[in-house]
Amino acid sequence: MLGSTGSIGVSTLSLFEESGADVEVVALTAGRNVARLAEQALRWRPATAVIEDESLLCELRERLAGSGIACAAGAQAVREAAEAPAEWVMSAIVGAAGLSPTLAAARRGAVVALANKESLVCAGPDLLAIARAAGGKVIPVDSEHSAIFQVLQDPCRDKVARLILTASGGPFRTWTHEAMAAATPEQAVAHPNWSMGAKISVDSATMMNKGLEMVEASYLFACEETAIDVLVHPQSIIHSMVEYADGSTLAQLGPPDMRSPIACAYAWPDRLAWPAPRLDLAAMGQLTFEAPDTERFPAIAIARQALRAGGRAPAAMNAANEVAVAAFLDRRIGFLDIARVAQNTLDRMNGSWELGRETGGDALEAAMMTDASARRVAAAVVDRLSGAV
Ligand code: NAD
Ligand code: MG
Repeated sequence: MLGSTGSIGVSTLSLFEESGADVEVVALTAGRNVARLAEQALRWRPATAVIEDESLLCELRERLAGSGIACAAGAQAVREAAEAPAEWVMSAIVGAAGLSPTLAAARRGAVVALANKESLVCAGPDLLAIARAAGGKVIPVDSEHSAIFQVLQDPCRDKVARLILTASGGPFRTWTHEAMAAATPEQAVAHPNWSMGAKISVDSATMMNKGLEMVEASYLFACEETAIDVLVHPQSIIHSMVEYADGSTLAQLGPPDMRSPIACAYAWPDRLAWPAPRLDLAAMGQLTFEAPDTERFPAIAIARQALRAGGRAPAAMNAANEVAVAAFLDRRIGFLDIARVAQNTLDRMNGSWELGRETGGDALEAAMMTDASARRVAAAVVDRLSGAV
């Protein structure tokens, strides 16, 4: 379990608990939440518990003293946890920090349940090729991609006309441009339907989450940017759809609870029986839809631009977005500046995101080179927007 203490990590352990699934946890890893990590370790008894922040290793050891659970710290130890021989790996670290351990799990042929969308956005084609070559599998956990994955199990994959990613529209769906300009971090993380980590909540508010998901869908399902549409569906009941060449559209539905796509990624191609919340469409009455407003939410257009540019442009966009979201949560820039940072970073880099390929480095090195140079450019854009320079 990579990122066991986050929203997806906690949902995964809750699913194991509620389903009574016969699971032996090999390793639990977390970034800084040492208290929750220790509590989970005492409950699930993994061989190893890893905290990324090395300054917290002593505290982890104290909390797990006498338990027989090995403690480790640092990014390298997180990667080693992914290399331990677990059949199934939940990849639920947030951000590009998840790429290295996710690649490590893919490289040894594990089944990777992939929530960490940023690793796909950074190095999707490489990650998928490495998993395929190792005889492993990458099963999407992101609800939209889980939906498409489920309805695409069909001999007609080459007859797909369009992937339709649904989006809740986030907390600012009905806000004016002026109100959005003054939005606070507290308002941005208050998602109407889903309870998630801070970073993805801000991404949902800017709709960069949907931009990242377009890239994710393009790689996972080998689909051109022009064949991916976004449809705002505020109730988050239809998780996404596939339209086929004959005009038939298949959708996957469910209550907005991440334990459903996690259950799918855990048991696939079987189905895990658990007391899941059930849909009551009669009680709900109606489902509504609208086109996204690309003026208030430019992130979708930025993601299209990055996909059209190809190569590592999406990795550069992702890094710029991570820098911008952190600056917004730190109150250094305004809400609308987040998309400006992504756009300006792509404009300033103007193709230089391909560095690293020429040096013949491996997939991880190349992606991390693009990531690092985009972070430098984005940090300069943040400084300018925040008036620091
Ligand atoms: P979160 O912030 O709640 O949890 C992140 C986890 O990663 C925590 O365990 C944290 O300790 C750990 N972590 C953070 N930085 C780390 C680092 N540098 N090294 C190692 N571990 C680190 O985030 P979340 O909402 O659970 O999202 C996790 C991933 O899943 C994200 O990529 C997100 O986009 C994706 N996702 C989440 C949801 C959701 O409903 N929460 C839905 C779809 C996709
Ligand atoms: Mg999603």
